[in-house]
Amino acid sequence: MTSSPLLDRRHLDFVLFELLGVESLSGYPRYAEHNRETFDAAIDLAHRVALEKFHPHNRKSDLHEPEMVDGGVRFIPEIGEALAAFNEAGFMASLADYEQGGMQLPFVIASACDAQFSAANPGTIAYPALARAAANLLEVYGTEEQKRLWMLPIVQGRYYGTMCLSEPQAGSSLGDIKTLAEPQADGSYRITGAKMWISAGDHEFGENIVHLVLAKIVGAPAGVRGISLFIVPRWRVQSDGARAERNDVRLAGLNHKMGQRGSVNTFLKFGEQGDCHGYLVGEAHQGLGYMFHMMNEERIGVGMGAVQQGLVGYLYSLKYAQERRQGRHPDQKDPTSPPVALIEHADVRRMLLMQKCYVEGAIALGYYTALLVDQQRDPEESVRRESELLLDLLTPIIKAWGSDYSLKSNELAVQILGGYGFTREYPVEQCYRDNRINPIHEGTNGIQALDLLGRKAMMQGGAAPKLLFGKIAQDCRSAAAHESLAPYAAQLGAALRLAGECTQAAGARMAAGEARRVLANAEHYMTVLGHLTIGWLWLRQAEIATRALPSAQGDDVAFYQGKIQACRFFFATEIPRIEIAAKLVREADASAYEMEAAWF
Ligand SMILES: Cc1cc2nc3c(=O)[nH]c(=O)nc-3n(C[C@H](O)[C@H](O)[C@H](O)COP(=O)(O)OP(=O)(O)OC[C@H]3O[C@@H](n4cnc5c(N)ncnc54)[C@H](O)[C@@H]3O)c2cc1C
Repeated sequence: MTSSPLLDRRHLDFVLFELLGVESLSGYPRYAEHNRETFDAAIDLAHRVALEKFHPHNRKSDLHEPEMVDGGVRFIPEIGEALAAFNEAGFMASLADYEQGGMQLPFVIASACDAQFSAANPGTIAYPALARAAANLLEVYGTEEQKRLWMLPIVQGRYYGTMCLSEPQAGSSLGDIKTLAEPQADGSYRITGAKMWISAGDHEFGENIVHLVLAKIVGAPAGVRGISLFIVPRWRVQSDGARAERNDVRLAGLNHKMGQRGSVNTFLKFGEQGDCHGYLVGEAHQGLGYMFHMMNEERIGVGMGAVQQGLVGYLYSLKYAQERRQGRHPDQKDPTSPPVALIEHADVRRMLLMQKCYVEGAIALGYYTALLVDQQRDPEESVRRESELLLDLLTPIIKAWGSDYSLKSNELAVQILGGYGFTREYPVEQCYRDNRINPIHEGTNGIQALDLLGRKAMMQGGAAPKLLFGKIAQDCRSAAAHESLAPYAAQLGAALRLAGECTQAAGARMAAGEARRVLANAEHYMTVLGHLTIGWLWLRQAEIATRALPSAQGDDVAFYQGKIQACRFFFATEIPRIEIAAKLVREADASAYEMEAAWF
């Protein structure tokens, strides 16, 4: 079992195998050759490569960010070396079929492997993460020819990929993009426009970059219905895949970021010379839907990546609090008595417990969400349908709750280190800066909350929250059988009723034409469902710990006790927030909605 400053392996095993039982995935024909041993081996390998090749340059790439030189980008060499090691270890193809040379891992285990790299170096992992998401999209929507020319080289680790959605004037509102695609007689398109914020947009780590670009075909309908998706390579290729001309995609500038500085962020111009070739993916005007395929997976990845930074900060501040000695207990009057370790102070323990609750709660949610992706291969149609509904509902929650609360966690880590936490000599300030992007990109957390309340909670007559609430109610009944957990089960049951009421009230008001006012409370709804879901997962963890404790040995005793205590803390300090948030949603509070711009 591997553990390090980047990983609490006992906790990861607990979530994957005791809470979620992911070994059962080897019952699916696709994963028949996998078992607990192969899962462990993949995670161990990822952890080793992450520690040896990704972690050592995490600080260096923060201090030496990529520079624009002669129209290209200059990087520190360690990034390319780490990516080569990542490819060599096979992680570019962790999800791909065996026939493609892949590991054919379940998504949940591939996510656990990725988590090792995100913890070690969130900037460097961005390159393969984006490339793999592009390959996954092409696997689903590309033609056989497109897969051969553009997807397979990514899986083989030869090409990289990007997602080009945002433009300077169109970030959250993609319906307003201006990039144009003009049809050509040979079936290709000529692309013209500019894309802003493109991560991994220019580099030479591989032979080519496959940009997946949203654009509007000339004459397309206005808004999101007119958006199509194009493959726009950095280098065009011949029909046998051999490199042809350089495509007309130009690096126009770099954005200088607060964190994750190793992942270059670019402003790209397409077709300035009128010769940018693009190839339509799927059908015209369906591009945003296809891109959502990529973005949903990315959103789980963003939530999970955020939580890894939360975990690194938590583990570091825990070690610091165990080692640094400062002050005495309030009732210790003798000034000559030795100072106690920080962790002896109840307020420091409070900050550690908060981090533990946020981070370990969100890790459980992240892997549960990833498991739902795998369950869409279940032979039972009902399981597939249910997992899809839950996945739709929980994706904005892992993205937004995961990134908001892991950032709060990083803030607490800085606080525990006191003045040292504010300096660049200690790693927690970089964790915070690196993590600060996660509530912003892949759809801001404000947009995630609107999606959750306005769409996901309401689709199919509210089917998704009903399903989730049913599962929570069932687990409350199970936990209530344990005397020590019965009060928490009752508390969560009460929160569940509030969540149900506010969901219904919001739906009724929206149906009555009050959507704007209701959606002004979307962030509060995110708190209701986020806290409810995390509370549910804490109760489940506490129940497993309660069952395991009587026969636990060695370090497991403290591990399970810690789980039960963290559940107690979350229910004492966080679950009560659901009541306030649910009231705001139920009553469609108008205090923000009715504030006029002129009154600021
Ligand atoms: C480091 C980094 C990497 C990125 N990588 C990529 C990438 O690889 N590819 C890519 O295409 N893009 C990328 N982005 C862009 C990113 O997705 C956008 O920044 C994000 O979607 C927000 O768009 P914006 O910056 O234009 O902000 P805006 O859309 O202007 O939003 C500003 C604020 O207004 C709020 N807001 C906007 N519209 C609404 C609304 N309708 N209702 C309520 N509130 C609203 C937002 O929540 C936000 O708080 C990246 C950005 C960064 C900073």
